[in-house]
Amino acid sequence: MFPMVMPTYARADVAFERGEGAYLWSTDGRRFLDFGSGVAVTSLGHCHPHLVRALQEQAGKLWHTSNLYRVPGQEKVAATLVANTFADTVFFCNSGAEANECAIKMARKYHYDSGDTDKTDIICATGAFHGRTLGTIAAGGQEKHLKGFAPVMPGFDHVPFGNLNALRAAITPQTAAILVEPVQGEGGIIPGDPDYLQRLRAAADEFGLLLIFDEVQTGMGRTGKLFAYEWTGVTPDIMPVAKGLGGGFPVGACLATAKAAKGLSAGAHGSTFGGNPLAMAAAGAVLDVMLEPGFLEEAAHWAEILHGKLDDLAGRFPRIIQEVRGVGMMIGLKAGIPNTELQAKLLANGLLTIGAGDNVVRLLPPLIIREAEIEEALDILTRTLSEVSK
Ligand SMILES: *Cc1c(COP(=O)(O)O)cnc(C)c1O
Repeated sequence: MFPMVMPTYARADVAFERGEGAYLWSTDGRRFLDFGSGVAVTSLGHCHPHLVRALQEQAGKLWHTSNLYRVPGQEKVAATLVANTFADTVFFCNSGAEANECAIKMARKYHYDSGDTDKTDIICATGAFHGRTLGTIAAGGQEKHLKGFAPVMPGFDHVPFGNLNALRAAITPQTAAILVEPVQGEGGIIPGDPDYLQRLRAAADEFGLLLIFDEVQTGMGRTGKLFAYEWTGVTPDIMPVAKGLGGGFPVGACLATAKAAKGLSAGAHGSTFGGNPLAMAAAGAVLDVMLEPGFLEEAAHWAEILHGKLDDLAGRFPRIIQEVRGVGMMIGLKAGIPNTELQAKLLANGLLTIGAGDNVVRLLPPLIIREAEIEEALDILTRTLSEVSK
């Protein structure tokens, strides 16, 4: 019989029934240290008391009204995001792919409204990931995501990530925007050099293009700053955000300057659920915690300690961990054995990790981990690598 849940995922055979902080408990009673955070989503850990309270309170008041009316929660969350970023304005949606769709539409509309109706194309990077909609698989440009879904949506060019000359050479009179992840996530935790990202800004300015940083994965404290662009000294024009924004509640946002967003007037874009009161309660609560003075600095401090310990570990097992890379709590272990094999063994030993391209095992722990969780993760990693290297 065909599975009743469509078999679009290669799922590990484990299910969870409860979570607290960095820990999950499975239905068969085992305890796991969650260094995947549901793919960089539960960045404040599971059941953070402030988030639980905010959502419970909102659940008893009002869930949904639609965007036909003002939503005070949106006004509040937008004000917080605007106050803490380059952005002037925010569109709320439900996922990372939708946030990228908004960014793509915004870029095209910006040039259309400027009278440059032929500026429709977006230069993206090879190895990129922007989501699984028809538009965002075209933007990602990866054969494994596009195969079987032709025709591919036109309007996306791809150049190697990190290669400025290739990017500049790809700019044509049809180019509307540049779209990159500051640190490629699904591609295998590949940090963009700050100098490269700065030069993308310069190229965008020189040719009148919009610069889009997809911060769906890098955003919300993942790299040690609220957003990864803060490491670069430059700002994008448009920034899709999601994953960590709701702490586990599905919510996305597309942040932009007023200039970039000028074309998205009433009727130009929309979402039934986007930014509903429940989603805004969750996002507001996440921002409350992340913007507490010292929170992100503390997370960055522990991330540095984790990096140091992982470097030592890689030194002890160089055949199995060939490289440790990443920024903040966004870490890639380049594996010398199939990453799926290593992940399965880590899971069996109680540590949850996430796979990525380039045979990488991703560690995306919640930003609340401290010494105890780091020590436990290192114990499990050390034990697992010892077993594997026998
Ligand atoms: C996960 C991810 C997306 C897609 O987000 P969804 O919520 O799965 O649609 C887009 N861009 C980046 C960089 C991501 O990591």
